[in-house]
Amino acid sequence: MTSDEPAIGAVDWGGTWIRAAMVAGDRIVHSERAARPPALPQQYEVVADLMRRCAAAVGRPPAAIGVGIAGIVQRGLVVSALNLGINSPTDVAGGIRSAAEVAGGISSAAEVAGGISSAAGVAGGVGSAAEVVGGVGSAAGGVGSAAGGVGDVAGVPIFVVNDLQATAIGVAGRWPDGLTAVMSMGTGVGGAVLDRGRLLAGEGAAGDFGHIPVQPDGPSCPCGGAGCLEMLVSGRVLSEVARQLGDTGRSPFLTARLSGGRPLHAGDLQDATDAGDEAAIAALERAAATFAAGLRTIVATVDPARILLAGALLAEDAAFGRMVRLRWEAARPFWCRTPLIHVPDDVDAALRGAASFAASFGSNIRPANGREM
Ligand SMILES: [Zn+2]
Repeated sequence: MTSDEPAIGAVDWGGTWIRAAMVAGDRIVHSERAARPPALPQQYEVVADLMRRCAAAVGRPPAAIGVGIAGIVQRGLVVSALNLGINSPTDVAGGIRSAAEVAGGISSAAEVAGGISSAAGVAGGVGSAAEVVGGVGSAAGGVGSAAGGVGDVAGVPIFVVNDLQATAIGVAGRWPDGLTAVMSMGTGVGGAVLDRGRLLAGEGAAGDFGHIPVQPDGPSCPCGGAGCLEMLVSGRVLSEVARQLGDTGRSPFLTARLSGGRPLHAGDLQDATDAGDEAAIAALERAAATFAAGLRTIVATVDPARILLAGALLAEDAAFGRMVRLRWEAARPFWCRTPLIHVPDDVDAALRGAASFAASFGSNIRPANGREM
C-alpha cells in the first residue's frame, strides 16, 4: 500500500475465531486471528490486541475500525449475540476502546520498529516508558497522531455491524448499482439489502432473511417466531435431514455412507441427490421450494435488481443451488426478472465488508446501523 492510502481496520468477530485486518481499498494488507476466549472482557482484549498487531504490521494506525460481529446490532449497540455471551444491549465499541486504553497506549513507535506487538500491553500497562509515551499520545492525539504510535487504536472511531451484513457488503462490492439483496446460507441463513453498495439495515436487522416466516405452524425459532426460513432450510437443518434419511434407511445411499463412521452432513445429502437417490432428491426439492418462497418475500419487499446467493450449499454447481435456481424460475412472480447470481465463497468478505462499512460511515451511508457521526 502507498503511504498516503488510508488504511481501515476490520474485525470479524465470530463464535470460534476473532480475525482482524488492515484493509486498503478492497485489499487486505495484513490480517491476524485468535481463538475467541469465552468471557467478554477477554474478547475485548483480544480484539484490541489483534487490531494493534495489524496496525503495527503495516506501520500506521487505522483511520477507523469496522467490527462485524455475530449478533444483532441496533444503532451501534449489540442487542443480542448469544454465541458470544451477550444477551442485553452492549456497547461493544466502548468495550474495545476501553480495552485498548487499559493496554496503555498500546504500541509505541519503538515497539513497532522492533516488530513486537505487545502482549505485555494487553496484560495491562506493564510496558516500557516508550509505551507510556504512546499512551499519552493516544489520549491526546487520536487517529493518526504521530505521538500516539502507529499501533495505537485507542482513539480510533469504531463502527459495529452484524457479521453477515458485513459479509454481504463484502460480496456485493462488484455490483455498485441499484438494489442488491444478499442471501447467504451456512449453518443458518442470513442476508442483507444494499442500495448502491450501502447497507440498508433499517433499525438494524433488515435483511435478516433467515427469519422470513415460511410456515406459520412450523418449528419454533429462537427469535420467538415459528416456521422461520432457517428453521426449515439451513446447513444445520439439511445435515439433520441427511442423518434422518441415513438412520431410518429411507435413503439407501445415505445409509450406506453411514457405515463410513462419520456423521452425515448437508454435503452428503447433495451427493445422494447427484447419485439419483429418490428420498434425498425429494427432501432437497422440498427445501428448495421453501427457500424459493423466501426469495419471493424478498422480491415482494424490495424488488431488488439482483439477488446474490452466498454459501457453499448455494454454489452454482451444488445440487441445492441448482434446485433453487430451477424452483425460482417456476415460483417467481410473472413480472419479476430478478436474477439469482451465485457468488463464490470468500473467507475475507466479512473483513472487507466491515472495513467498507466503517470507511463509508458518515459520508455516504444511511444512518441505519452503527453510530451516527
Ligand atoms: Zn426466527
